[in-house]
Amino acid sequence: MKKIFLTTRNNKVPILIGNDIITSKLLSTHIKSKNVIIITNETIGKIYLKKIKNCFKRYNTQVLEIKDGEKYKNISIFTKIHDHLIRNRFDRDLTIVALGGGVIGDLVGFVASTFMRGVKLIHLPTTLLAQVDSSIGGKTAVNHPNGKNLIGTFYQPDSIIIDTKFLQTLPEEEYTSGLAEVVKYGLISKPSLLVWMNKNSKKILSKNKDCLSYIVSISAKEKVRFVSQDERESNVRAFLNYGHTLGHAIEAAMNYRNILHGQAISIGMLFASMLSVEKNMLDINDFNLIEDTLEKLNLPTEIPKRIKTRDIVKHIKFDKKKQNNRNRFVLLNKLGKCVINDKLTDNFLGNMIEHYRSQ
Ligand code: ADP
Ligand code: ZN
Repeated sequence: MKKIFLTTRNNKVPILIGNDIITSKLLSTHIKSKNVIIITNETIGKIYLKKIKNCFKRYNTQVLEIKDGEKYKNISIFTKIHDHLIRNRFDRDLTIVALGGGVIGDLVGFVASTFMRGVKLIHLPTTLLAQVDSSIGGKTAVNHPNGKNLIGTFYQPDSIIIDTKFLQTLPEEEYTSGLAEVVKYGLISKPSLLVWMNKNSKKILSKNKDCLSYIVSISAKEKVRFVSQDERESNVRAFLNYGHTLGHAIEAAMNYRNILHGQAISIGMLFASMLSVEKNMLDINDFNLIEDTLEKLNLPTEIPKRIKTRDIVKHIKFDKKKQNNRNRFVLLNKLGKCVINDKLTDNFLGNMIEHYRSQ
């Protein structure tokens, strides 16, 4: 088992990583309250609750299962969870365990940060995306009808226990979608990881145990490095948004249907890489390596035909409002080195998207 720490201004969060590491002994060193509530969804509950509950025997443990899906990451479910906690007379001597992917982690994290002004929180991430990205960094959120993640807090958990064994039951598309964020770390700071993923794509796709340990721990370490340098959204944390400007716009233009986050980010990353080549920063051979790696990992690189460039640009413009009215595009100076360019106009981006689509 590997152990790393996320050190922020006020916290030192242990992150434990390994295969099949969740035991009652491990939990007892990380959970000190008498009462525990495990919050998960019905899909994950069906597969894992029996085993997980066993490890919580020494605590006064309750379970709450919510429905599966991003559409339940909303303020009404958030309130219902609070109702449940209040009805069951929980007080501050409570640890909330978030067992699930990014949806559960964001929602349950938000609940933990607000119930009684904040109670203890443990993340048990079960998707690759949550293990390498969303469970680390302290962001919590629910969606608003007008946009994703518009309501939330920054709240660090007491620990993050990353058991790669969960990934064995993860549906294939969800798994490859998570791989996009792993590739991202290769692009923005670890070229050796990208080269390794290109060489070992078959092993990665077969969910080889050692491969999983390697990619999850190296990604978690990278995420920790970016987040601890800069806990809130600014400067280097923005590099983690590589590929996300176009990626988010594609997701929004598709109404968040028929495309997973990592798939949209895969397309966005290749587009940002093309822009980086156009700006004479990234070497064309590195661009080819990025494209080849994404393809070998079964990730899409083409913008879906059903959406219009005009709609994509509309969503990029909407995103821009949140950033002082500038398109903040993360580009690659070279492989492993990011720069932020906030001088790209909507018009230029529209033309580049058309150019990208025509290739
Ligand atoms: P993300 O982590 O990418 O935000 P979700 O939290 O929506 O994704 O999880 C994606 C889907 O995978 C959901 O349907 C969820 O119930 C399911 N899921 C999560 N973890 C596992 C797992 N370990 N095994 C099987 N299915 C899982
Ligand atoms: Zn992402």
